Amino acid sequence: RTVYVNGQYLPENEATVSIFDRGFLFADGVYEVTSVIGGKLLDFDGHAVRLERSLNELEMAHPVTKDELLEIHRQLVERNEITDGLVYLQITRGAADRDFAYPKDAEPTIVLFTQNKPGLAQSPVADKGMKVISIEDQRWGRRDIKTVQLLYPSMGKMAAKAQGADDAWMVEDGFVTEGTSNNAYIIKDNVLITRHLGNEILHGITRKAVLEFARVAQITVEERSFTMEEAKAADEAFITSATTFVMPVVQIDDTPIGSGQPGPLTKRLREIYLEESIKAAI
Ligand code: PLP
Repeated sequence: RTVYVNGQYLPENEATVSIFDRGFLFADGVYEVTSVIGGKLLDFDGHAVRLERSLNELEMAHPVTKDELLEIHRQLVERNEITDGLVYLQITRGAADRDFAYPKDAEPTIVLFTQNKPGLAQSPVADKGMKVISIEDQRWGRRDIKTVQLLYPSMGKMAAKAQGADDAWMVEDGFVTEGTSNNAYIIKDNVLITRHLGNEILHGITRKAVLEFARVAQITVEERSFTMEEAKAADEAFITSATTFVMPVVQIDDTPIGSGQPGPLTKRLREIYLEESIKAAI
């Protein structure tokens, strides 16, 4: 595989980053994941805009312009012959003598690589639906910044696997925040409910697109908190993320959702999202 590191395209085994990199020592870095379908990037603009916001929130330098970033994405997709897959991008504050205070002179580290995922949009999980467990949300308070500090979500995934489930929905003060790496939704009486934006959740790029498509399709949308009890009594449930698109949830803890099968509105939203975002891919 060819990867990109600090201005260079290199074979993956020749790419290196300093052991003093603050991404390694402090998780002082941000990332984005963009899907590739048919060799094209889905919602590149949304990801680029959110990256800029994450960097600004952390007072981190922008090592590349949006146009340069697009060019790097395209180069990697081409060089690695990715038809379906993803591009991972990470920017850290860079290498500096270890100190909690931000260094003044560090050069940001930028790394991109691809993952090949043939048939990404034809996941069998989309037909079957996912099982999720509920866990307490013990992450830090700035989940709106897409940092590489992902240990708690990783623990959540492991807890889910240990219980034969696919993912975990996190709960804070009695309300669902989001999944370990996705936004969470329920549908009750044809109303689509998902948590409002704030510091408590990541502002999903897929979330934004799906809510727009839902409104165009005349589906009533409520952006508000919901409890686990409300979720378990819902007609349908699903998650969204850049690499899973719209994915049905058919069981939460031991409770089947609705019929226990992927719901009709969820299926429709998945179809609309895939169709429209592939059409707009660049
Ligand atoms: N929430 C969290 C915590 C995530 O890590 C992610 C994606 O990685 C999402 C939501 C979904 O965001 P997006 O749709 O931009 O992929």
